[in-house]
Amino acid sequence: MSAELLNGSRLAQRVRSQIRRSLKKLKFTPGLAVVQVGNDPASTLYIKHKQRDCEKVHFHSEVHRLPADISQETLIEHIEVLNARPDIHGMLVQMPLPDGIDKAVVIDRIAPHKDADGLNPVNLGNLLINRERVTPCTPTGIIRLIELSGEKIEGKHAVCVGRSPLVGKPVGLMLLNRNATVTYCHSRTADLKVETQKADILVVAIGRTEFITADMVKPGAIVIDVGINHVDGRAVGDVRFEDVKEVAGFITPVPGGVGPMTRAMLLANTLKLAIGG
Ligand code: NAP
Repeated sequence: MSAELLNGSRLAQRVRSQIRRSLKKLKFTPGLAVVQVGNDPASTLYIKHKQRDCEKVHFHSEVHRLPADISQETLIEHIEVLNARPDIHGMLVQMPLPDGIDKAVVIDRIAPHKDADGLNPVNLGNLLINRERVTPCTPTGIIRLIELSGEKIEGKHAVCVGRSPLVGKPVGLMLLNRNATVTYCHSRTADLKVETQKADILVVAIGRTEFITADMVKPGAIVIDVGINHVDGRAVGDVRFEDVKEVAGFITPVPGGVGPMTRAMLLANTLKLAIGG
């Protein structure tokens, strides 16, 4: 058996087309601001992608490059200015931040109604009580990919390998909100294979190259590979794709799976914030 591919690049294109169509009904242009502190080359590249994505859907975007030695107070003042600007509907602070700046304090100060990444505690709290408003981009993209399979989430046993606040923990909550039965696994899980073998939906976000092997996967499962590991200049997932695709029912590729959907969900969140949804 060979699994059906859940193509994130194609789905992201569809999301962008839908956004362009929605824009025709708006009398203003949604605006996204990205704040970069310092000049980490990987961050600069990610931001360039975000700007290009904004161009594709005709959003206004701007990048605020601040010096690496900026104080936390000055950074927060900058965020407050963006919070108050009516032409900026969404913003995010690109991670990582330099030493000496407390990431959590900075995210706290992004107004929840401008939080394009969905990582402010107010938005995460709403997710916890099943009042999803703006949800984190990667988990939201994962849900869209699972839905693409056409399989129902309700009643399924979902296993999340990884419990980071960025991916594993919120995607587990989103699956729970959709009535899956959810198991979280992490580095202290006693017998990972026993858990993953029970998964109808397996979401892997650990950052370990091809860690999940075919014997760990239930036949017919939906396998979502979030991992991005750089091996010899190319991106490789957390799942051993070539073997696992022979067991799974559906599988996301790396690259071309979760990555493009994460970027598309940033645009979707910005639109949602712009129209006050
Ligand atoms: P993270 O913050 O480093 O968290 C990794 C998680 O994996 C932790 O919960 C850790 O457990 C768990 N873990 C590590 N080794 C494990 C093992 N051997 N068995 C079971 N669990 C293990 O990473 P992250 O930010 O969630 O990212 C995970 C991966 O996804 C990375 O490769 C990252 O690059 C990628 N990513 C991709 C996208 C995308 O758009 N495609 C977005 C975000 C992240 P403990 O909590 O016990 O330490």
